[in-house]
Amino acid sequence: MNIENTIIIGSGVAGYTAALYSARANLKPLLIEGITPGGQLTITTDVENYPGFPDGILGPELVTLFKKQSERFGTRTIQSEVIEVDFNKEPFSCTTENGTKYYGKSIIISTGATAKLLGLESENALMGKGVSACATCDGFFFRDQEVAVVGGGDTAMEEALFLTKFASKVTVIHRRDQLRASKIMEQRAKENKKINFIWNSVIEEISDQTTNTVTGITVKNLITQKTSTIKLQGVFIAIGHQPNTNLFTNKINLNDQGYIITKEGTATNIPGIFACGDVQDWIYRQAVTAAGSGCMAAIDVERYLSEK
Ligand code: NDP
Repeated sequence: MNIENTIIIGSGVAGYTAALYSARANLKPLLIEGITPGGQLTITTDVENYPGFPDGILGPELVTLFKKQSERFGTRTIQSEVIEVDFNKEPFSCTTENGTKYYGKSIIISTGATAKLLGLESENALMGKGVSACATCDGFFFRDQEVAVVGGGDTAMEEALFLTKFASKVTVIHRRDQLRASKIMEQRAKENKKINFIWNSVIEEISDQTTNTVTGITVKNLITQKTSTIKLQGVFIAIGHQPNTNLFTNKINLNDQGYIITKEGTATNIPGIFACGDVQDWIYRQAVTAAGSGCMAAIDVERYLSEK
C-alpha cells in the first residue's frame, strides 16, 4: 500500500497554495483536483485585488499560474473527483470516481464553496460580463453605473453597501417584504441614500445576451404578478453560498450551514485532517485569504507529521 504524506482534496486557490507549501516542505503532496479545477476563480474575469498583479489578471490565468507553481516543486495532480473518504482509521483514504483508493497520513480539505445562483439562463450567459457573485471582487468595475443586488441577507446588505462606493445607484431586489439580514445591516442599508429596495420581487431575465453585456433586468412582483424593466449595468447575486461538504457529512464536524469547523489554525476535530479556504470560511471568502489559509494548512500538516 502506497501511503502519501498528505492528500489535498480540491484545487482552488487554497488547495494549490497548500500544495505549493507542502511540496516545498518535501512532502510530495498528491492533489486531487476535482471536476472543475481552479474553483471559483475560473468563473471570474479580471482579478484586480490579488497582490502582485498591479495590472490585474484573468481568473483562469491566475489558476494556471497557481498550478504551475505548485507543480514546480513536485506536487502531483490528479484530475478526478473524490467520491468517498474514510477518516475513521489511519492511514486515511480517499476514493475517486474510477474506484482508485488513495491513502494518506494526513488530508487537507480545500473543496471550497459555491455561490448559489438564481438558475436563469441569462444569468449563466452573462456571468463575469456584468453578472457577478462577489462585490468585493467586481464592484470596482461599476464606477458611476447602476447595479442591482439580489438577496435579503447579511451578504446582500454588505454587498449593497460596498457597491455604493462605486455605483451611482444600488437597487436591492428581495423576494419578500422583510429582510433576513441583521438589524444593524438593515439599518445601514436603509439609511444609505444610494440604496433603494424593490420588495416581493424576483429577477425574471437579465438583458442583453446579444451584446454580451448587462443592459437591464426584468423584475416580477410576486404579489401583483406584474413585470417591469429596469436599465442598469450590473447584477450581483447575493443569495448565499453552499460549502462543498456533502462528502464530509457525518465524517467531520460541520457547522449549521455545513462549513467545516476549524480551530487552532486549520485543524478539524480529527487529528491529521485539516481544512482551508472557503470550505471553512463563510466570512472573508477572498482569493488572498484562501491562499493564506492554504499556506497555514500546509504548515499545520508539516508540524503534525513531524510531531508524529
Ligand atoms: P442567507 O441565507 O442569510 O440569506 C440569503 C438571502 O437570499 C435571503 O434573504 C433569501 O431570501 C435570499 N434567497 C435565497 N435563495 C433565493 C433565490 N433563489 N431567489 C431570491 N432570493 C433568494 O445568506 P447570506 O450569504 O446573506 O449569509 C450567510 C450567513 O453569513 C448568515 O448567517 C449571515 O448572517 C452571515 N454573514 C454575516 C456577515 C456579517 O456579519 N458581516 C456578512 C455576510 C454574511 P429569504 O430571506 O426569503 O429566505
